[in-house]
Formats: sequence, C-alpha cells, structure tokens
Amino acid sequence: MAKKPQAFPILLRWSDHVPASDVQDPLGLRLRSSTRLASRLLYCITSITPRARYFSFIPWCVFDHQQHEKGKPHALGLRDGVIIREHALTLACIAHHKGEPCSGGTLVGTRDAKKWFAIGEKEADFKKIMRKKFSKNPALNAYMNSIVNLGLFVSDVERPDTDEEAVGEVFTFDDIELSTLGIELAKRFDQKIAGLKTTKQIASKDRRCSLDDLAEFGKHGGLCELSNKGSADRELLRDIFFAIVGSKGESHGVRRQSLLLTLDLCRQFSAEDWVLNEPGFASAVYFGEVTNGDTRLVVVIPPQLLDIATRWRMFYFHHFMSVAFEGLFSWLVSQLGNLGLAGATVDSLVAKLDEPAVRKNLTEIMSVALKGSFGNLTPSTLLVNSGVKNGDLDEAVSKSVDTAVTSQTPFAEDTLEDLIRSNEHLYSSTGLALPMILLSVTLARYSQWESTNFGKWLANSANDAYLDLVPPLVTTGLARRFGDWWKTSFKELTRFVLSRYVIQQHQSMSYEKTSTGERCLLQVDGPKIVSTGGFDKIGMGNPRLSRAIQILTDLGLIKEDEDKVIRLTPEGEAFLEGEMKKEAKHEVS
Ligand SMILES: [Zn+2]
Repeated sequence: MAKKPQAFPILLRWSDHVPASDVQDPLGLRLRSSTRLASRLLYCITSITPRARYFSFIPWCVFDHQQHEKGKPHALGLRDGVIIREHALTLACIAHHKGEPCSGGTLVGTRDAKKWFAIGEKEADFKKIMRKKFSKNPALNAYMNSIVNLGLFVSDVERPDTDEEAVGEVFTFDDIELSTLGIELAKRFDQKIAGLKTTKQIASKDRRCSLDDLAEFGKHGGLCELSNKGSADRELLRDIFFAIVGSKGESHGVRRQSLLLTLDLCRQFSAEDWVLNEPGFASAVYFGEVTNGDTRLVVVIPPQLLDIATRWRMFYFHHFMSVAFEGLFSWLVSQLGNLGLAGATVDSLVAKLDEPAVRKNLTEIMSVALKGSFGNLTPSTLLVNSGVKNGDLDEAVSKSVDTAVTSQTPFAEDTLEDLIRSNEHLYSSTGLALPMILLSVTLARYSQWESTNFGKWLANSANDAYLDLVPPLVTTGLARRFGDWWKTSFKELTRFVLSRYVIQQHQSMSYEKTSTGERCLLQVDGPKIVSTGGFDKIGMGNPRLSRAIQILTDLGLIKEDEDKVIRLTPEGEAFLEGEMKKEAKHEVS
C-alpha cells in the first residue's frame, strides 16, 4: 500500500497530528449502531467474552471465597479473592498444556504466565504474583456484566452489554450475591476441583501451589477442557446460553435463535466441507449462498430460523452501508492528505467522478461498457448493466437486485467491500466511485424491507435520528433531499453524501466523543476542507460471531476437524435436532 505523504500543519491549533490508529470509529458507525445491533442479536456474548468456562469459573471463585476464605484472618476481599483464583487458573492451564495456553484463544495474563513457566519454577507463590499482577485487566472485568445479565448473580439492574472492558473497580463487590442458578453452576464446577490441592492452597494463608498440582487443576478446570465429556458445568452452561434455564426477557431468546442459526449453518456448511467463519455467515444470511470461484453452496434457512436470519440480514445492510461510508471517509482524508494545507472543496472532489480514467477503470472492474461520464450516471442507469430491472425503485426493482446481483459478482456488496478494503484505489478518483456504487446497491437491495417489521426493527436501533446512521434513516435522508435518489446523478448524490454523511457526520462525532473535537481529522474552513491525519483501515465487522463460535466449541457442540472444517459433534447434532423441534412456534410464514 502506498504510504500517505505527511503534511504536518503549521498552525498552532493543528500542531497535534492525530495518529491514524487513534481514530477507529470516525463516523460513529460501530459504537452507535453496529455494536448495538450485535448486542440485540447476541446478547451477553460480547467481543471480550469468548470463553464459556469463565462463566462458571467466576461464580465458582465467589462461591469458594465464601465457603473457604471469608471471615478468616488472612482472607482477601472478594474482588481480590476472585482475581487470585483467576491467576491460578491462568497458570494452571499453562502448566497443564506444558507452557502453552488452552487451545481456542489465550487466557487473560497468558504472556506473563508463559514467561513464568519458562523460568522453570516448581512452585507458584500467588501472594507474590498478586503483587506483580499478571494482568491489569482481569477476565472478571470483561465477563462480569454478561455474567450478571445471564442471571448468575442476584441483580434487578441490567448491566451494559458492551464490548469494552469495565475500567477500574466498578462493581460494589462485597454486596454481590450468587443467584440460585449461579450457586448451582458454581457447585457443578466445584464437583471436579473441590478435592484438588490447588483449590485448597489458593484459599489458604500460604497461597503456594506446586506446578504439578496446578497442572491437575488445569486438566479439570481449564478453558478448553470444558468441551470434554464429563465436565459437570458444561450442560448447565449450554442450557443458560440457549435460554433453556434462567433466562429473563426476550433478548435471551434472540441469542438462543442466533446460536441455533449458527449451529444450523455449521451443519449445512460442513456437509459440503465449507468452513463456517464470519464472511461465510454473512454471505449465507445476506445472499443465501456462499461462493468461491466456481463452487457454490446454496443455503436453505429452516422456517423456524427465518426470522433471526432476516434480522442478521438487516445487520449486514448496516454493515455494507457503513463500509461504503468509511470507504468514502478513508478516500477523502487520503486525497486531502496529498493536498496538504491547500485542501479542497467538495465540488472539486466530486468533479473527479467525470474523469475519463474513472469510466475506464470502472469498465474494467465491473466488466461493463459504461457510456458517458460516471458522474452523470444514476444508480438506476448504472445498475441496469448488472441485470437489475429498469424503472422506479419499487419492490420489484429491489427484488431484482437479489436475483441479478449475487455474491462475488462485480456489483455485489462483498466484492465491492473487498475492493474498497484493499485500498487499491485509495489515491485515484475511482476510489470515490466505488463506495458510492456499494452504497447504491446496498440501499436498493434494502428498500424492499423498508416498510416491514424488520425494517422497523433496524430503524429502532437508532437512538438519535440525526447521529445514528442506519439504512432506513439514510434512505429517508436521501428521499428528503432528492425525492428520487435512485434516479439522481452520482455527482449530485456524492456531493450530498460526502457533505452530510461523511464530513458533517465526522465533525459531529468527534465533538460528541471528546467534547474538544481533538480527534477530528478534518478541518473545515468555509468551502475548503483540510485533513489533519490519516485513516486507511476500515473497521466494521461482526466480532461477536467468532466469539459465539468459540463458545459453541467450548460447549462441545461443534469442533474443528483436521482440515479446519467446523462440524457438529454427535452431541451437537442431537441437541440441534431437539431444540429445532421446540422452535416450531417461531415459524414465520
Ligand atoms: Zn486447556
């Protein structure tokens, strides 16, 4: 990738060049909508809670502290009592796996624990380790909100279902009380490890454990060991995640459906040796197929799961729209970076769409012969080339996008996303056209859902109709500005989209976030815009899905084979079949 020329501003107020890495959500598309949607779909499985074992381990820490430590002269406070046990688990897993962490993702504090193991000590002194603190951010901080929301502690208040760690000591820890379900889960974990030496020593005054004893603890209580048959807590954890027990409220039922959908897609994918991953999941719910070169798998969503699959489809409408907006933003700051303090006006940037090179490049990329300048084309006249029906953007035209623009074809959202993320056209005018095409295809495909309950569900995820950009609000904004955006020239559309959804949005967001606007990468001076930093890594994604796949693995329902294909285990097959029978009531016609 080309390196962006540095243009350090000379005026005092610009003297802080903002490092690109500091700006991760320049348009607020992640924090304000994507994570909110993901939270509604996979409630309690956040991007920072990927291992199912912690969900029984942390309640056990509280239980064990109460049973064997509390009230004694050497007792730690509850919070430190949990953290010292967490350190023990981290070392135990490393000791059990002879210097390596559990498979499927590292534990909190693994790096220091590996170093400790490498020294070759035969005994761990946890009083000393606590002073050094293996990890500044214990798993406790990451998992606590989800553990509370799953009903394992007595609480009337729902905690924020965020993907960010709680900073500092945010829990009034000493009042915390395990619920009946939490106690049951802790007892199940306790069944396997109550008799082990580490369990006794970690609660004792001495708090020293031998390496061999720790390894034994890891063997029974480790993270990847949960998936072994005979882990007493596994079945209950499964029932909690699948909302079979203890669930309060609808969001748990939605998570259950998302997990069933993931299992069912895993079943369909693995039957043809496809690997279930984030792009595959996206393609399945969005296009109804996965493709790779000449091979293709047509996905059949069972009627019981149509509702949840359609909600995930809404998630991806937002995703593709967001990639388009962030792509525009990325292109804009790159262009402005080249121009230094001279900056540019929106009109001069938009005029680039008429350059013959844009038509030439697009002709190649989209494999169509474009007539006239790109800037004068409309989404309608452009997309006719891909086989989309001619005419007003009604339900029939929107549905024709589904049949004409399938996964991995030149006009398809996934193809355009890959192209934009590659940054190949970041410094040419074609880089402005590509996100605009992505935006048009996404919104045209979305428009058939506009007045449905799914469209309303998507619109409901916006708390602020001005700042939260979701497809229904953007189509409304475009309609208000143009009447019929579908038949408006790309030049006109781009001028508005850049001004309203990129420049203005970024300014609002940076003031919103920091109150001083110091993370603003754009300086607007009358009609002139100057950039004060770089941004070349488009974010957006579905981090919760891979965590859900890990949790399903930990629960022993799915397993990766030698060829990296994730398959249902025999237990997973039986479980899915049984649970799908119960799901009949959600069937939508
Ligand atoms: Zn392990």
